[in-house]
Amino acid sequence: MRDTDLFQLALGLSSPWSVTRSAFAVEESRLDLYVDFAQGSRFACAECGREGCAVHDTRDETWRHLDFFQHRTLLHARVPRAICPECGVHKVATPWARAGSGFTLLFEAFMLTLAKAMPIANAARLLGEHDTRLWRIVEHYVWRAVERLDLSDVRRIAADETSARRGHDYISLFVDMARRKVVYVADGKDAATVKAFADFLEAHGGKREAITDASIDMGAAFEAGIKENFPNAEITFDKFHVIKLANEAVDQVRREEARNNFQIKGRRYIFLKNVDHLTQEEKEALSELEAQNLDTTQAMQIRMNLQRLFKMDSKAARRFLDRWCVWVEVCDLGPMKKLARTVMAKADGILRSIATGLSNGVLEAINGNVQAAKRKAKGYRTKRNLKAIVYLIAGDVLANSPT
Ligand SMILES: [Zn+2]
Repeated sequence: MRDTDLFQLALGLSSPWSVTRSAFAVEESRLDLYVDFAQGSRFACAECGREGCAVHDTRDETWRHLDFFQHRTLLHARVPRAICPECGVHKVATPWARAGSGFTLLFEAFMLTLAKAMPIANAARLLGEHDTRLWRIVEHYVWRAVERLDLSDVRRIAADETSARRGHDYISLFVDMARRKVVYVADGKDAATVKAFADFLEAHGGKREAITDASIDMGAAFEAGIKENFPNAEITFDKFHVIKLANEAVDQVRREEARNNFQIKGRRYIFLKNVDHLTQEEKEALSELEAQNLDTTQAMQIRMNLQRLFKMDSKAARRFLDRWCVWVEVCDLGPMKKLARTVMAKADGILRSIATGLSNGVLEAINGNVQAAKRKAKGYRTKRNLKAIVYLIAGDVLANSPT
C-alpha cells in the first residue's frame, strides 16, 4: 500500500477526493498531505444542493489536522468553486472541514474534548495554537448547539445564581431536572432572568404551562419570577438553601455573642460543621462551650433540629415543623426567630421538597464545577465566554461531537 493510500483511508476520503502526495519534513517535524479531486469532477452547489455543477475555478487552502504522532500535520487542497445555474459561483463544501475554519473537523472535535477538561488557554498551549482561535471554535459549536436545544420535554426545573466575576456580577443557571443539565444561562439574578428563561424555553419547543415544579432558593426574586412566568409550577424550596439560611442565622448569633466571649472567637467552624464531622478535640471544645449554656450552642441546637426535618416523611415533617417554629418563637435569639418566621412563610415550598424529593443538589454540584473551571481559567475575558463554558461543561451541549 502506498503512503498516500494509507493517509486517504485514515482521512476517510472518498471520490472525487484523494490524497495525491505527502511530504514529511523531519527537521520541521511536519507532515504535509495534499488532497485533490479528479479531473472533470462535478460538485453539489453549496447553496441549494443541486448536484453535478461544473468547476469554475479553484482556491488553495490549508487546514491543520490531528498530529501524526508528534508531528504537526497540515492538509492542503485546491477547493473548487462550482457554477450553479440557479445560484451562480460558490465554493463547494469540503467533507473534512467546515467553511471558514482553518482546522479539520477531527481536529476541532479533539479540541472540544480538551476544552471540556481544561481551560482554553491550557488547551491552546498543548496544541500550539493561539487561544483566540480555540475560543472561536468553542463559541461556534456551543452557540450552534444551544440554538438547536430541544426543550419540549422539560417539566421540572431548578434555578440558582452563581458568581460571574468578583463583586456583584452574577449569572443564573436553569437546570432541567430530568436531564440534570443546564439548559439556560441568564445574565443577573433577578426576576427578569426567569422571564428570559421562559422565552427561551418557548423558542425551543417548550411551554410555560408545562412546567410543573421549580426548585429555587428562598430569595424573593426567583419566587416572583416563577409565579409570574410559570402559572402551573409548584415552588420547592430545597434543603440546601434552608440549611444555608439556618447557618447564617447561627453565625449571626455567634458573632453577637463573640463580642463578649473570647472562647467563641475563632471557633466559627465548630458551630457550622455537622457534629459528626468534628474532630475529637473539636468535640471536646464544643461540649465545654455547651456546658456554659451559650446562645450560640442553643442556636446550633435549633439548626440541627431543623436539619432532622429533611429525614422525615411529609406527614411527620408538617407536624415537626409546626412544633419547631413554636419552640424557636419562645427562645431569646433574634436571628433564629427571624429564621423561624421565614421558614414558616415558606413552609409549603419547604415541605414540598420533602414530598417530591426535588432538591437543588444537582445545581450545587454544577455550581461547584463552574466555579472550579472559572478558577482554573483565572476568570474569563467576557461573560459570553463564561456562558459558553457553562453550556459546554454543565449543559453538555456537545455530548454529540460535531463530526
Ligand atoms: Zn445552487
